Amino acid sequence: MSATEDRIPVMVPWLGEEEAQAAAEAVRSGWVAQGPRVAAFEQAFAERVGAAHGVAVSSCTTALHLCLVALGIGPGDEVVVPSLSFIATANAVRYVGAEPVFADVEAATGNLTAETIAAVRSERTRAVVLVHQGGVPADVESVRKACAQWDVAVVEDAACAIGATVAGGPVGAGALLAAWSFHPRKVITTGEGGMVTTDDPEVAARLRRLREHGMNASAAERHASRTPVLEQYLEVGFNYRMTDIQAAVGLVQLGRLDEVVTRRRALAARYDALLAAEAPGLRPVRDPAHGTTTFQSYWVLPEDGWPQGRDAVLAGLAEAGISARRGIMAAHLEPAYADHPRADLPVTERITRDSLILPLFHTMTEQQQDRVVAALAREVRR
Ligand SMILES: *Cc1c(COP(=O)(O)O)cnc(C)c1O
Repeated sequence: MSATEDRIPVMVPWLGEEEAQAAAEAVRSGWVAQGPRVAAFEQAFAERVGAAHGVAVSSCTTALHLCLVALGIGPGDEVVVPSLSFIATANAVRYVGAEPVFADVEAATGNLTAETIAAVRSERTRAVVLVHQGGVPADVESVRKACAQWDVAVVEDAACAIGATVAGGPVGAGALLAAWSFHPRKVITTGEGGMVTTDDPEVAARLRRLREHGMNASAAERHASRTPVLEQYLEVGFNYRMTDIQAAVGLVQLGRLDEVVTRRRALAARYDALLAAEAPGLRPVRDPAHGTTTFQSYWVLPEDGWPQGRDAVLAGLAEAGISARRGIMAAHLEPAYADHPRADLPVTERITRDSLILPLFHTMTEQQQDRVVAALAREVRR
């Protein structure tokens, strides 16, 4: 890396002056906790992803937790999850005292399929957390159909898939429950933050209660009322609320979503062309037949593995000033799951061992992209 060449980060959120203004307005309004801006963000977000209701929460991790609580899943139950996911997917199952059962993924998308779920399903399987990994839509139609036959609920982990499409509509449409993330590594951001979407009004009402200590009247409702509202705590809930400052930022970010996804897809297409020419043998993640990805993660997998090892490649890229990342992690290989029954997950292990996530962000320049490809081509030839 020369003195004039800056380090290329793996991700930079696209935030502007409008987000700063919106956050400042929320602060000046005096109402900074969950309030009118959260309500507006929920409605706008749900509409955008084709769901009837949105319930904003503090993260996708807490969103997943609430989904499983809402389904009544607990000790003695099994929930099928991909190991190939951010570890929060599996952890959420542990939070409710149920057992995560790891299923393998298909090589092309990194997602569960009806077949990989069927291979590990048991009489105790109550739900599946179907992850749209890195923004690549899972084949929801076939998975929903299979799970309906088995009487197994499908929770969609759409943390990375805001703006992805599947079966001709947005990811989220028709989902029993979908969980979303607004972490800065994801497609749009509120700093930290998450959402659950659903079409069921009763489930939405329960989720609203659960995120706010199990209370039957929100703080905003009590504030708006002229007569004293004596709240009741109907069940043991959580404090998983989003703030109005975050929601104000989220509303602006949502307005940028189409532009963000269009830009990410254009940069991904440019990567595809450059890599095909300069680093053949690297297979980039692509749109599946059933939908379009957000390219939240643009990952590549070498057809024959890395002779020098993936970590040496990462080190080589870092030396060239490029922050790539190891590919998607596999939860079953982490110490937190060391006591878990060993699962046979060959595709998961191959992807997590050899895949690389390349830098991709809204303001990335073609020159930066050329540098990434040149450095990667050097590693491929090594
Ligand atoms: C990032 C991510 C999460 C966790 O999201 P947070 O909002 O950071 O809690 C969960 N699942 C997947 C697939 C993710 O990529």
